[in-house]
Amino acid sequence: MQSVLVIGAGGVSHVTVHKMASLSKIFTDIILASRTIDKCLKIKKSVKKKYNADITVLELDADNVNETVSIINKFKPFLVINLALPYQDLNIMDACLITKTHYLDTANYEPKDEAKFEYKWQWDYIKSFEEKGVMALLGSGFDPGVTNVFTAYTKKHYLDCIDCLDILDCNDGDHGHPFATNFNPEINIREVTSNSKYWEDKQWKIGPALKSKVSFNFPEIGHKNMYLMYHEELESLIKHFPEIKKARFWMTFGDKYLKYLEVLENIGMTSIIPINHNGAEIVPLEFLKTILPNPSSLGEKTKGKTCIGTIISGKKNNTEKTFYTYNICNHEECFDEVGSQAISYTTGVPAMIGAMLMLKKIWFKPGVWNMEQFNPDPFMELLNQHGLPTKTIQLKNSVNF
Ligand code: NDP
Repeated sequence: MQSVLVIGAGGVSHVTVHKMASLSKIFTDIILASRTIDKCLKIKKSVKKKYNADITVLELDADNVNETVSIINKFKPFLVINLALPYQDLNIMDACLITKTHYLDTANYEPKDEAKFEYKWQWDYIKSFEEKGVMALLGSGFDPGVTNVFTAYTKKHYLDCIDCLDILDCNDGDHGHPFATNFNPEINIREVTSNSKYWEDKQWKIGPALKSKVSFNFPEIGHKNMYLMYHEELESLIKHFPEIKKARFWMTFGDKYLKYLEVLENIGMTSIIPINHNGAEIVPLEFLKTILPNPSSLGEKTKGKTCIGTIISGKKNNTEKTFYTYNICNHEECFDEVGSQAISYTTGVPAMIGAMLMLKKIWFKPGVWNMEQFNPDPFMELLNQHGLPTKTIQLKNSVNF
């Protein structure tokens, strides 16, 4: 029997735990630990009702390495699946090193007091993980995650070299709220208000947040405005495919969302600098998170689809070619299956698949790895089997935006 310890009991965890519980022959023993036990209990109740599966739940503050170590020592899981927040990544990796336990996450480390994310902090663990003989799989969500796999898959099957990579993330879902975020509001707002950054001519080009916009005709959705942003997978993809000349990340936003965000920014509600409020120190963005709808509560109301994918141009036998690989996910179908909206679903399913490949030792090597460093084929196959079917089409021309 190989058990897994999931840390965090939010929107993404809800999906991963449900998917794992539905595959009880592979995930024989699931332990769910998070800061608020009530959220663990809610997931436990739901998987019992849906799949008649029993999971163990307990309270854990993963900022405390010793607490995580003692839970790992008690249950001896094969793998820790970190679905808490990026702030916990290094502490959980430390606990995994101490206990020689494998590790997986969906987002790279970010210090709480600075809105900055990069892989350096986690890549610094490569040697220690190798020496201890344990594996860490970084970014096993959709973006990062599946987008990295799409890139490796395109290169493996269609191109000799990649020249230009565009990652396109469209969410056409409508949750009926005037303003809400699809995953953790604090992490989401820190990400979208950061400077845009893309790779061209062997250097990063930095610009203001959400200023560069183009319209794109998404399959099954139609024309949407998408905005140039910075996303963490660009950093690992240009490292592992050094031939890439240009790499960009685009995300769609509705006008209403952007208007609310602008107002919130202008009045200081997205700031992470602590302020004094009636004698208590509060961080405006943390307070905003408290009053915004909880992303895991959006599932019931959200209608529409997501379309996330990669458009990759390069050469095959010296001929220019362009391929678009994408997944379409329907919010309502996700809710019917596991009780979540598509953003949690598109992240939670790849986390389950990454875990499955590690458990089956198909993706298995000591060290710290990004998704594109493994054979993409088994992951692509499992996406098709577990609710995230993908499609690759050849485009007549490379993108001109
Ligand atoms: P949520 O806020 O819904 O859930 C986070 C969970 O982690 C909560 O249950 C929270 O507990 C728990 N948690 C926070 N701090 C601690 C701690 N110190 N110890 C133990 N548990 C803790 O977030 P999401 O589910 O939306 O996102 C989860 C992760 O997935 C994030 O890292 C996010 O960045 C990532 N993500 C990745 C995507 C991808 O495609 N790669 C896309 C979307 C998200 P509490 O309930 O007490 O707050």
